[in-house]
Amino acid sequence: MTEKPIPFTKIQIEELEKKHPTPFHIYDEPAIRATARRLYRAFSWVGAGGFKNYFAVKALPNPYIMQILKEEGMGADCSSQAELMLADAVGLSGEEIMFTSNDTPAGEFVKARELGAIINLDDITHIEFLEKSAGIPELVCFRYNPGPLREGNVIIGNPVEAKYGLTREQIFKAYEIAKKKGAKRFGLHTMIVSNMRDEKYLIETARMLFELAVEINRQVDIRFDFINLGGGIGIPYKPDDHAVDIELYADGVRKTYEEIIVANGLAPVRIVMESGRAITGPHGYLVSRVRHVAHKYRDYVGLDACMANLMRPALYGAYHHITVLGKENAPKDCLYDVTGSLCENNDKFAIQRKLPKIEPGDLVVIHETGAHGYSMGFNYNGKLRSAEFLLQKGGAFKLIRRTETEADYFATLDFKGSRFSGLAEKENQSKVSGKRENKK
Ligand SMILES: *Cc1c(COP(=O)(O)O)cnc(C)c1O
Repeated sequence: MTEKPIPFTKIQIEELEKKHPTPFHIYDEPAIRATARRLYRAFSWVGAGGFKNYFAVKALPNPYIMQILKEEGMGADCSSQAELMLADAVGLSGEEIMFTSNDTPAGEFVKARELGAIINLDDITHIEFLEKSAGIPELVCFRYNPGPLREGNVIIGNPVEAKYGLTREQIFKAYEIAKKKGAKRFGLHTMIVSNMRDEKYLIETARMLFELAVEINRQVDIRFDFINLGGGIGIPYKPDDHAVDIELYADGVRKTYEEIIVANGLAPVRIVMESGRAITGPHGYLVSRVRHVAHKYRDYVGLDACMANLMRPALYGAYHHITVLGKENAPKDCLYDVTGSLCENNDKFAIQRKLPKIEPGDLVVIHETGAHGYSMGFNYNGKLRSAEFLLQKGGAFKLIRRTETEADYFATLDFKGSRFSGLAEKENQSKVSGKRENKK
């Protein structure tokens, strides 16, 4: 297995650590920009106002990242009030925002309408719900769930069991109702896979949507402004996983578009997507120090990071590659479980992983944490979420989110006037001094 490259050195991390204790995530800005540009170049064949990726905010909800992607021409795919507020905060507005939510509260439809976002409805009953809460916009999109017509994958699962989207039968009715209620422009959307690296499968998803668009056009007599291919483009987590060939994928979508959309007189239709993982996932790194090495029935490496900083291995059994800084060329002749500090035995970043011999104090880098990494974090066991850094062109590290403190953790409790006020005082003191107790 080849070692995965890292865009910073051990010396740089040791320097950074003088001011900011580990763990922290680092995102590689030039690499994120390069990935964004490559995607846009591959889909530059799309006419009619062009291709757009609505970055799935949930993958990496940091305004600095969203700003970078905005500069690269991307919009935001939001699914909650807070994500809409983030999009607003970076100056995205109108149809630069796609609101793909499910089980949506009325207030979020109101907020989405206020921003002029494209509203993507998850259910046929949401038409009336939207009408009552926020009114029917001029542009309406529906999320399609093909059900038994299509197999999903491990993470999203079988479409029949997925809570998302309208069935085939419902979707024809839905456009008819929306049209009757005054909608003038239409979009069509699906999201049926996650972390899919098979270009053929991704192209087949586009084909499915294009064919459906033709059928809906015939039956309901509407034209589509755009077709949203969803997110779900996979990335290579393992060193020998192959990466999606974006040019091959885009070219396959182009051919299918010509075969179906153009041939049936429906062109031009804008092609958009809402990719998150493929944009930032490969360009994030969780840097952590080894606290303890323990020899029990197995050998354990205990890090200062835990599931609070990266849940995917524990949640999905997902593989994340681990590099021990300074030991890139050492033989991987030790077998470890690499753990966090939660009182949860599934708090493991790697299980029975071959690594070089590790000592307490070693620096490790966990790869591909740029999407669905920090954002999934939680505070179980009173663990605090880490800082986020942007590695900028020229090699500077910019702090784009500070480390959580105990004050953040206790912020939703009201200690004042209660018999726990002693704790509040202690917290206030630590807030004033701005220091955190050394966790190591
Ligand atoms: C999560 C999600 C995405 C992004 O998925 P990635 O795997 O990060 O590309 C896009 N659209 C919807 C509706 C989602 O739920």
